[in-house]
Amino acid sequence: MTDRTPPHGVDALPQELLIGGGWRPATGGATFPVENPATGEPVARVADAGTADALDALGAAAGAQSQWAATSPGQRSRILRRTHDLLLERREDFAGLITLEMGKSLAEARAEVDYAAGYLRWFAEEAVRIDGTWKVSEDATARVLVMRQPVGPCLLITPWNAPLAMPARKIAPAVAAGCTMVLKPAPQTPLTSIALATVLAEAGLPAGVLNLLPTTGAAAVSEALMKDPRLRKVSFTGSTAVGRLLLAQASANVLRTSMELGGNAPFIVCADADLEAAVDGAMTAKLRNIGEACIAANRFLVHADVAQEFTERLVDRMSGLTLGSGTETGADLGPLIDRTQRDRVAQLVEETIADGARLHTGGSTPDLPGYFYPPTVLTDIPAGARISREEIFGPVAAIRTFSSDDEALALANATEFGLVAYLYTRDLGRALRMSERIESGMVGLNRGYVSDPGAPFGGIKHSGAGREGGNSGIEEYLEQKYIAIDTP
Ligand code: NAD
Repeated sequence: MTDRTPPHGVDALPQELLIGGGWRPATGGATFPVENPATGEPVARVADAGTADALDALGAAAGAQSQWAATSPGQRSRILRRTHDLLLERREDFAGLITLEMGKSLAEARAEVDYAAGYLRWFAEEAVRIDGTWKVSEDATARVLVMRQPVGPCLLITPWNAPLAMPARKIAPAVAAGCTMVLKPAPQTPLTSIALATVLAEAGLPAGVLNLLPTTGAAAVSEALMKDPRLRKVSFTGSTAVGRLLLAQASANVLRTSMELGGNAPFIVCADADLEAAVDGAMTAKLRNIGEACIAANRFLVHADVAQEFTERLVDRMSGLTLGSGTETGADLGPLIDRTQRDRVAQLVEETIADGARLHTGGSTPDLPGYFYPPTVLTDIPAGARISREEIFGPVAAIRTFSSDDEALALANATEFGLVAYLYTRDLGRALRMSERIESGMVGLNRGYVSDPGAPFGGIKHSGAGREGGNSGIEEYLEQKYIAIDTP
């Protein structure tokens, strides 16, 4: 990444597979194109790993595991800290790459670099705090020593919506714990992972500790890896459908699993809410990452007494936004990731309107190159509508009303998902009572954004199992070993 302006920065990247510390083409020489979603134009061709490459990558990870586990916590911590520093030094390069292959604005991409770097710093600090316990057994005939050790080689599978942060959130705790890895990035956004791997190597990560497999054959590659007894863990971020499949595959070798899956966040606005703050929060919760976030507000539930005012203010803010490439100054909202996603969102909106919803702004695909969709507000959402059941993953706000706290909670919890919920109220008692009863792993209280390296990110119900970040984040990559010492 010597030339700092993409796409020239892209040419300086390896665009190949990283196996055992060396960059190489895929067996058979297959490659696949990476597109700029703002134009639909290809910007690079990347090696397309097959199952033979995958098994080579796992071989490299398994071969490096025992030596890597024996490195000092201080060394692992220094590698993470150096990577953090390099990411921040090269913020513009990384932001440019993220925008190029994913579409979000440069401002949002820069924020993603800082956020990803935050996890590297957090786990640099955690690497030197791995501890155990010592106690006397109940009958005093033994001493009980409990130590923590790395789980072993991990398969990390990441989505395209945060091409730097999602890999960083997994790699950082795995490195801190002493695990080796095979990373399979999303095929839409492999370039940022490649850049991250080069920076980790520059920071001193030994050969074979991180292996990287860009591929269009995710199902075959991951199935081959999951069947191999050398793999000990899978950490996945993506859709609930794929998460379920991986959980089933993981059962054969009884793998450790961490699952960060889909969301369907309710955004509840009580009658006593500060409406200006609620609209600000709604803009963030709905439009951050162009709505393509697992923590995006998916269902707006607004008290009937304030619904009209909230809707008017939200429509006013959303209709004033300008669509444009993430690199354009003055553009507020970039494109969706690809044609399939854009057409899915358009179809969902059309279907909801046909079922009786009212359109306030947006609602039609603009005649632009790339995969843009306008900020859209719908009200009068019919009960049971698909838009309330599925992740929208686009800049579409669907508003329903409620008339009591109980009704709001019943609507909020009427979903298989449980990642995050947003709640706006000025009454502290109501805020706490409702937060306790909301079925989700996270709650944004008078705040339209949750996520912090120092907090446990993750969901309940079909949104997943396991947490990334926080004091317990490293545990996902550690086993406990109990040693009973005879003391008659
Ligand atoms: P996806 O499940 O289609 O793909 C995610 C990853 O899994 C990609 O790398 C993909 O190539 C891979 N994959 C696809 N099929 C596979 C298979 N059969 N076996 C193994 N790997 C396979 O999801 P997506 O469309 O890329 O991402 C969007 C989804 O991710 C949304 O549901 C979103 O909510 C979720 N997500 C969750 C979090 C979280 O932390 N909970 C964060 C970001 C995104």
